[in-house]
Amino acid sequence: MKKFRIAFLNPPYLEKFSRSQRSPAVTKSGTLYFPMWLAAACALADREGFVVDLIDAPAAGTSRQDVLMRLKHFVPALIVVDTSTPSIHNDSEFCKEIKAALPNSFIILVGTHVSAMPEQCLNLNDSIDAVAIGEYDNTISELAKALMEYQTPFNVPGVAYRHKEKFIFTTCRQPLEDLDSLPHVSPIYKRFLNIEHYFNPNALYPMVTITTTRGCPHECVFCVYPQTVMGHRLRMRSVSNVLDEMQYIVENFPEARAVFFEDDTFTISKKRCVEISEGIIKRGINISWTANARATIDYETMRRMKEAGCRCLCVGFESGSQELLDNMKKKITIEQSEAFMEDARRAGILVHGCFMVGFPGETKKTMNETLELAKRLNPDTVQFYPMMIYPGTEAFKWFDDRGYITTDDFSKWLTPAGLHNTVIRTESLTSAELVRFCDNARRQFYLRPDYMFYKLRQVLNDPEERKRTVKSARTFIKYLIKGSDIPN
Ligand code: SF4
Repeated sequence: MKKFRIAFLNPPYLEKFSRSQRSPAVTKSGTLYFPMWLAAACALADREGFVVDLIDAPAAGTSRQDVLMRLKHFVPALIVVDTSTPSIHNDSEFCKEIKAALPNSFIILVGTHVSAMPEQCLNLNDSIDAVAIGEYDNTISELAKALMEYQTPFNVPGVAYRHKEKFIFTTCRQPLEDLDSLPHVSPIYKRFLNIEHYFNPNALYPMVTITTTRGCPHECVFCVYPQTVMGHRLRMRSVSNVLDEMQYIVENFPEARAVFFEDDTFTISKKRCVEISEGIIKRGINISWTANARATIDYETMRRMKEAGCRCLCVGFESGSQELLDNMKKKITIEQSEAFMEDARRAGILVHGCFMVGFPGETKKTMNETLELAKRLNPDTVQFYPMMIYPGTEAFKWFDDRGYITTDDFSKWLTPAGLHNTVIRTESLTSAELVRFCDNARRQFYLRPDYMFYKLRQVLNDPEERKRTVKSARTFIKYLIKGSDIPN
């Protein structure tokens, strides 16, 4: 078994293309996600005794040529290629080059897009031997064993492959129940990645991203991971397992200033949030942290989190129209968002607010209500995006059924520069109107004199905030002024 080699590849595409985030793109803020899911599968394969390599080409700026050279040198029997909706054609085309260089390798595609459209993706070209559907940590290790033994994936759950020109789907891969059974991703980061390549403007820089849960019990119609890969059943790592990894990060990445908990919703269990916070304090783990949250968490929980180093929460407020919030099944009210912001401020936690436009029923009036809500809530930072829809989601089906998707070319999910585009229109708004509204809303939010004064004071008073803000502002200001690169 020791000789069987597996390469985990985040393939080259646009420079700094953030493939594993919920809406994959080159971002205006310079955000670049860790290849978290590849790293998790890589960690498990490593523990199982396989020889592994992990290549994150967009982060390291590795060219196609250099990736091919590294693969040829490593000679993997199995190559796991991450994909995304906007990059799927790029990714599948690159597989042809890999196959030409390593004709005996077995190539499997992974990710949300291939989980939603396995047959179409498998048929993109002959170099693709299989696709993994759903969570793929165990799928890859089991596939490697099956390939060693039978040269076919026929008995591995969660795999679709071709046999005699026919599409074969094995059986469903059940989501992993015991997350503590997985090894930590941080040692894999340490071995193969440079954490300074990664950035999230909501965390101090540099940071290390991990997840502590999988799955989300909520059913927001646009949200891709729970609907395509992770499911709606919440699974949690134990508190001690999370604390052990935090401790490893602090001890092994002395340059790290933060941990980013990239769970779908870290705060889903308030009890667990408090337990993790108490554990951080008890163990003396001294590092700032950021997490994704819903606007339903209370002051007392946030106060405990703040004491344990929580610096910022990323929250999807989404819309200023209650009707649209209900349409998208967000299950929050505007009053809850307002109360949450007040509590977060009182607890001393910064908030990054996410807002989207383009939902079923969106009009110019509801978009303006969203902008007004953003200004009223006044978080530390915000993002405004036209709704991004992905195959496998309820939102995609809704727009598709009504003929409101403007293209079937997935590369158009991005603008020419790789920024988020939108491929939807609504009953009354064009795609361009949605993108332009977001450009304008960003300016109206960030260029308010009060806000600029607040930011100036923040960066002058705190060197860590200065470092993070300056890094983000380098790209963000350009887009703030210029707007998105869509045709007029
Ligand atoms: S609560 Fe957040 S993670 Fe869960 S479905 Fe809604 S948007 Fe997705």
